[in-house]
Order: sequence, then structure tokens, then C-alpha cells
Amino acid sequence: MSQSPSTLITRHTSLPVLPGATLGVLGSGQLGRMFALAARQMGYRVHTYSPERDTPTGQVADAETSAPYEDLDAARAFARGVDAVTFEFENVPAATVEAVAEFAPTRPSGSVLHTTQHRVREKTFLSARGFPVTRFFGVNTPADLRSALAATGCPAVLKTAGFGYDGKGQRLIKSLEEADDAFASLAGREGILEAFVPFERELSVVAARASDASTAHFGVVENTHARHILDHTVAPARVASHVAREAAEIAESLLAELEVVGVLCVELFLTADGKLFVNELAPRPHNSGHFTIDACRTSQFEQQVRAVCNLPLGSTEQLRPAAMANLLGDLWGAGEPDWRAALSDPGVKLHLYGKSRARRGRKMGHLTALAATPEDALAAVLAARERLKHKYERGTMNDEP
Ligand code: AMP
Repeated sequence: MSQSPSTLITRHTSLPVLPGATLGVLGSGQLGRMFALAARQMGYRVHTYSPERDTPTGQVADAETSAPYEDLDAARAFARGVDAVTFEFENVPAATVEAVAEFAPTRPSGSVLHTTQHRVREKTFLSARGFPVTRFFGVNTPADLRSALAATGCPAVLKTAGFGYDGKGQRLIKSLEEADDAFASLAGREGILEAFVPFERELSVVAARASDASTAHFGVVENTHARHILDHTVAPARVASHVAREAAEIAESLLAELEVVGVLCVELFLTADGKLFVNELAPRPHNSGHFTIDACRTSQFEQQVRAVCNLPLGSTEQLRPAAMANLLGDLWGAGEPDWRAALSDPGVKLHLYGKSRARRGRKMGHLTALAATPEDALAAVLAARERLKHKYERGTMNDEP
């Protein structure tokens, strides 16, 4: 009797996917690029799938399929040609993930994606399992928003429930009078209203879980945002050891509760009285884990390769304190940044994502600095980024960004 492809896959999901095999990546941004670099270092081939062309991932992959996520035939053809699939972008439609999973083991599973790609589902999951979250309400009508605001009080944060990232589709509501205007900004999309958390610090934990249920985390790091976009990360976070322990425990329990096979980032708020709240989950490597490439024995991307391939997880030991600063397109406003000046500190590492057009707020790359203390690493990375703003004296200053 013939077997459906999914039966065959279920049977073989615990087999290791060994070097030489081809790994598929849904999505083609910088996270896929750094995954592909780690995979190629370990002898894998990489095939990326997304609607775009000449992408950050495609530039370093062995193959690049450019097709809409909704083209399920193209997605199935992609899956037939790879040995395992992961993603670098969690807003891939569920139907695409299902189509891909018919032909190749997909890690993390579609159900992890389903929970984490919708803020109301995600927060409902978290609160039902006793994880600390701020009060939240689903919002579908202006009346929903008014009654939610009556419960949370002001200020409160209204976000779109799906397909939001880097603070896109987000609005701070300071008074009840703003309710109708704020509702209109949802433009017909489902929303979530969250009580404002007066946080003292934003933290995150990047952790991984293998198919044998073993886990490993990279410690707790400290994140500073500007215009809702991550600006810089300091690792390790300068927090009390019991806070660091509690944050790591939250990440490890979440990996188990969600049955993740892969990498998960948990973003948290820390209040002045030492309470932690989970803000958001990302079932993939995260911007706040980029420091691991230069500072840890195993990077978050190598860890993703290992988890996706059913290999043992690597050591997450951090070799030195580190800080990472994002390079946004804004830095190209006065022409090509001065790379030589930034790299005049030999302890600073440059990562660029191969994006040809610099736009305001677009993540173009990052810098990482290692030093004897987190403070020194932060000072070094911010100084290097500042030096980038110096202009070339050789005429490239007026180039189109
Ligand atoms: P998010 O898109 O949920 O990661 O939110 C982006 C940023 O907005 C966070 O990193 C916080 O700086 C801020 N933010 C989001 N939700 C809240 C909240 N409930 N209370 C206070 N600040 C928030």
C-alpha cells in the first residue's frame, strides 16, 4: 500500500539530517543569510524561498526560489528538493507551511508558528500557562477598544494582532479621547490592547531545544530600542542574578510548553520592582542574539542548524562580554558610511546584510564589540557606530543611498 509523504516524514523525523544535505529556508532576510552562512560552514547546502530576488539569504545560498508564499505548487516543489525546512520569518502563511511539511520535516512545527504569529493567540497561550503577561484584550470593534481601555486605563498600547514587527502597526494611547482615532489606525485589521508596562529595562533570552528535548540558552541580554526598533544589545544583561535565572527559566519552560525544535527568542520587560513580563516570542534566531556569532562558542544560527538537523546542541558559553549595535539605513543619509573609521578599533566586527537600498529604519547590518566588561563593550560599539557617520573624503559622499 502506498504511503502519503507526510506518513513517511513522521516516521523519519528523529533521523539526523547530515552535512551534505540541503536545508530549506522560508524567508530570505538577514536571519536567513546568517543561518545559511552557519549551515554552509558545516557543509550543508541551502535553498531559500521568498517572493523577492537577489536577497540577503539568496546571495549566500546555493539556490533561491522567488515565488509568492501563496503559490503552494512552488512551495511543494521547493520542499521536494530539500531535506529539512526552517524559517527566518514567522509571517509565512499557515497553508504554505502545511504544504511544505507534506514533503520535508519542518522545524519548528507549523503549530509553533500558528501560536506566535498572532499576538492575541500568543498572549492567550502565555497567560493560560501561567507565564507573566500584561493585561490584554482582543479588539475588533470601537466598543471593544473602549471597554478594554476602561479595564487597562491609560496609557495603553494598541497593536495589530498579526503581521507586525519592529513596532509597525503600534500606537500608544494616552487618553480615552484618542480611542476612535486609534481604532481607525487598525484599518480593519484585528487588534490587541495591552496595559502599558512601565519597564525599567527590556531583556531577552535566546534559547534552543533539540528533538531529544535537551535545551540550551545564551543567557539574558539587555536591549535598548529607538523608534520601536532594536538599537543595541548588551550581553550579559546587567541585572540581579535571580532576575537572570527567572528569565532563563521562563525561556526554557516556553520551549518545552510549545514543543519547539529550533531556536526561540523571548522578549521580556523588567519593572523597577523586579517583576518580569513576557512581551513577545519569536520562534527563530533574533536580532538580540546576533552577538553570539562573535562572542559565543556556538552562534544562535549554528544552534538553529543543529536543532533543525536533529544534531546535539552546541555549547552556548559566552567567551567575553559583548555589545551589538544595529546599523539602520538612516546611516547612509550622508553617503556611504566610513567603514574604515568604524573598524579602526580591532575589537569591533562588521556584519552587513547585502541590501543594496538603504531606507530609513531598514536593518542593513550590525557591529559587535567584545571587551573585558559589558560597559566597555557597549562604549566600544557605540563609538564605532558614531565613527561610521564620518564622511568619506573621496567623493562617495553624494552617492545615492
Ligand atoms: P513589540 O512590537 O511588541 O515588540 O513592541 C515594540 C516595542 O514597543 C517594545 O520593545 C517596547 O519598547 C514597546 N512596547 C510594546 N508593548 C508595550 C507595553 N505593553 N508596554 C510598554 N511598552 C511596550
